[in-house]
Amino acid sequence: MCSTATHIKILILDDDPFMLKLLAKMLYNQGFAQVSSCSNGIDALKQIDHPGTKPDLILLDLNMPDMDGIEFVRYLVDRQFKGHIVLVSGEDERMLKAAEKLVHAHQIPMLGYLHKPFNPDQLFEIIKHWAPSVAKEQQSSDKKVYIVEEIRAAISNHELVNYYQPKVAVASGELISVETLVRWNHSVDGLISPDQFIGIAEQGGLINDLTRLVLSDALAQAKIWQQSGQEFRVAINVSMDNLASLDFQDLVVNLAKENDLSPQKIILEVTESQLMGADARIPLEILSRLRLKRFHLSIDDFGTGHSSMAQLRDIPFNELKIDQSFVHRAWTDETLRAIYDASLAMAKQLGMEVVAEGVEDEQDWQLLRQTGCDLAQGNFISKPMLAADFPRWLEEWQGRVRNGLISDPV
Ligand code: C2E
Ligand code: CA
Ligand code: CA
Repeated sequence: MCSTATHIKILILDDDPFMLKLLAKMLYNQGFAQVSSCSNGIDALKQIDHPGTKPDLILLDLNMPDMDGIEFVRYLVDRQFKGHIVLVSGEDERMLKAAEKLVHAHQIPMLGYLHKPFNPDQLFEIIKHWAPSVAKEQQSSDKKVYIVEEIRAAISNHELVNYYQPKVAVASGELISVETLVRWNHSVDGLISPDQFIGIAEQGGLINDLTRLVLSDALAQAKIWQQSGQEFRVAINVSMDNLASLDFQDLVVNLAKENDLSPQKIILEVTESQLMGADARIPLEILSRLRLKRFHLSIDDFGTGHSSMAQLRDIPFNELKIDQSFVHRAWTDETLRAIYDASLAMAKQLGMEVVAEGVEDEQDWQLLRQTGCDLAQGNFISKPMLAADFPRWLEEWQGRVRNGLISDPV
């Protein structure tokens, strides 16, 4: 499959030794190198409890003699398992669907199910939609790798530029907010995507400097928009590492004040890009205090395993962003649709505003309309753009809205 498939840990749990071998072989052939197998639930739970062997994905047989698949899922819930599941069974489709519903009810992300006997293509079909990180890393696997010092220089030379991508109301087409997405304008290599430098900046201890630059540029821009009578909010991406020190809160509060922006105008999008450190109290404290000051908080990439249920439980988010991997094509793919529906329903139940990311075409857009999703973001509406291109886009978008984008298809 790709080099990144080698980092992914997959656990196969099945009491049938033949099935264990078969699945392991299929996965190896698709490039997954870290595949382990267990023939019973107890052994599997031991692997899950061990940080070094904790799987990202479990292929789970429903029918096992001692602990069956459903019982096993309950133990996963107790452990707040953050990986994904594929159910495997020879039971009829209805039984599998029922089990799928149950897994969803427990809010464990499920990629789909395999009905025995199955072929490698069916397995691949399910796995290929999984983990945008896999797809993203796959795309960037042959791209140039930068070192910390280059990124440090890029920050101090102000080579980072903010692009902005609109989030619009699905019902009215109204522009509600814009997300700030940073790029590196490299003198030789051109425009570099954040996937190629954010992770390195985090690892190299540069993320605070990077965020300070992105935030101050974004809020200065927000001030300009506000002065021209624009009402929308501005979102910025915050790394978990930014939330390790209480200074972050002061930075946000001070920059908002300096630019005459009320906190309601600013959204902080948070993803758990790295495992939270042993002490999760500081991020929790910073986010809660920012929320008390009326800044808006958004949980990003929801459903990918980076954004966990525990975060949802502990942090008072205003907005939930359903990850693009569950939005684009959800109108035609049952599994994506199930995850999309579940995320939407949960967010609504929690009183949060829901953004669907990765809206790429008219069909995606129509699904959002049919299902009552609040906001849409994606290339169908607009790619991320420079602030200078914003007025032209807005005019064009308003034209599209007037021409029937928000009326029902005939
Ligand atoms: P994200 O926050 O999930 O941002 C959405 C990404 O999806 C953006 O990629 C955007 O360009 C892309 N996208 C938008 N619409 C579509 C669509 O319809 N189809 C597809 N296939 N993709 C779409 P981008 O700009 O490359 O950013 C990648 C990630 O880098 C972001 O993911 C975010 O996690 C991170 N990032 C960007 N700027 C910052 C920043 O200032 N600080 C931090 N910590 N992370 C940032
Ligand atoms: Ca984001
Ligand atoms: Ca996202």
